[in-house]
Amino acid sequence: MSLLNHYAEVLDGLKKQGNFRQFKSNIQRGRYIEINQQNMLNLSSNDYLGLASNEQLREQFFDETPNSQRVMSSSSSRLLTGNFPEYEQLEQNLSQLFHGRSALLFNSGYHMNIGILPAICDGKTLVFADKLVHASIIDGIRLSSAKYVRYRHNDLQHLENLLESYHADESIQRIIVVTESIFSMDGDETNLRALVNLKHQYSKVMLYVDEAHAIGVRGQQGLGCAEEYDVIDDIDFLVGTFGKALASVGGYLICHEIIRDYLINTMRPLIFSTAQPPISMAWTQFILKHVTTMQTERKHLQSMSKQLIDQVKQKGFNCPSTSQIVPVIIGDSQETVEKAQYLQQAGFYIMPVRPPTVPKGSSRLRICLNTHVKDEDLAQLVKLL
Ligand SMILES: *Cc1c(COP(=O)(O)O)cnc(C)c1O
Repeated sequence: MSLLNHYAEVLDGLKKQGNFRQFKSNIQRGRYIEINQQNMLNLSSNDYLGLASNEQLREQFFDETPNSQRVMSSSSSRLLTGNFPEYEQLEQNLSQLFHGRSALLFNSGYHMNIGILPAICDGKTLVFADKLVHASIIDGIRLSSAKYVRYRHNDLQHLENLLESYHADESIQRIIVVTESIFSMDGDETNLRALVNLKHQYSKVMLYVDEAHAIGVRGQQGLGCAEEYDVIDDIDFLVGTFGKALASVGGYLICHEIIRDYLINTMRPLIFSTAQPPISMAWTQFILKHVTTMQTERKHLQSMSKQLIDQVKQKGFNCPSTSQIVPVIIGDSQETVEKAQYLQQAGFYIMPVRPPTVPKGSSRLRICLNTHVKDEDLAQLVKLL
C-alpha cells in the first residue's frame, strides 16, 4: 500500500478542491444523452452540426460502402503498408478544397499538435503561443527544442511587442506564432486578418493556426475561419480535427508541399504509429462532402449562438464568446459544480470546466450549441441560469 499512498493523497487533494474527475457511462439518442437514468438535452458535445448523431447519414454511408471497402485496420504506419487509397483520396479532396495546397492526415488532433511542433522546431526556433492554446499545443511545444514565450490571450499588441524585441536577434532563424482560431474554453476568436497582416511585416514569422472548433462551422464551405476571412493561403500550418463538427476522427494539416514531405520524414507520431483504419478515412471523406453544402445549418448555429451570448450577458455573466461555445464564467469550482448539477437535474447536460483545464478562479459552465437545439430549449435554459 505504501507506494500507492502518494497517489491516493493527490486524489484526496483533488476531491477537497472539487476538481476530482471520473468517467460516466452514458447512452446517446439523437439530441439527448442519458446518464444515471436521467435523460438530458446534450449541450456538452462537439458534434456542432449534429452529424455524429445522424443515423440516416450513417446508414447511407454503409449502404454506399461495400464490405470489401469496410477495412477496419490499416495494420501499419503509412510508410510501411498502411497507405490505403482512402488516405490519398481524402488528402486530394482536402487539397482541392484548400486552394491546391498540400494536405497531410494524422491519427488525431492531439497526435498532430504533439508531432508537428517538435518536428518543425529546433534550437534556432522561437515559438510565441497564445496564453490559452489547447493542452496538445503546449505539449507539442514542450516536446520540442524551441524556446517559447506565451503572449496574453488574444492580445496582438503584446505579440507585436514581442516580435519587435526578438525579431532582430540573429540566433533566431524563425519565429512560429501558434494560436487557435476559435478558442475551446472561451469560445472567442483570433482576429486572423490582423494576425496575417502582422506576419507579413516580419520576414522570419510563420503562422500555426488550430481550427479544431471552426472547421465545419465557419466559412462558406465550412473550411473554418481561414476561409471566412480569406486567409487560407497566408497560414503556413493550418491544422484542425475531424473529431468535432466533422463527426469522425483524425487531424489534418494544410501546408506547402515541402512541409508535407518534411513531416513524412521527421514527424515521430506519424512514422511510429499505426494509421487510422481506412474506413474512418472513407467516412471522413463522406462527411466532408456533406459538410461543404451545409450553409443553412451554419447560419442557424451562428444566429442561435449570438442570441444565447446576448442573453447570458444580460444575466450579468462574463461571456467572451463569439461562437457556438458559450461559457458562463462563475469563478469558484464548487459553486460551478453545484450549478451544473442543478441544470442537469432540470434536463440540460452542461458540464462544469475547472482548473487545470482553465485558469484558477475561472471555473465555468461550458455550453456547446449544436444544430439540434431549439429556440424554446434556450429560452428555458436562460431562465434557469
Ligand atoms: C480537441 C482539440 C484538439 C485535439 O483533437 P483530437 O482530434 O480530439 O485529438 C486539438 N486542438 C484543439 C484546439 C482542440 O480543441
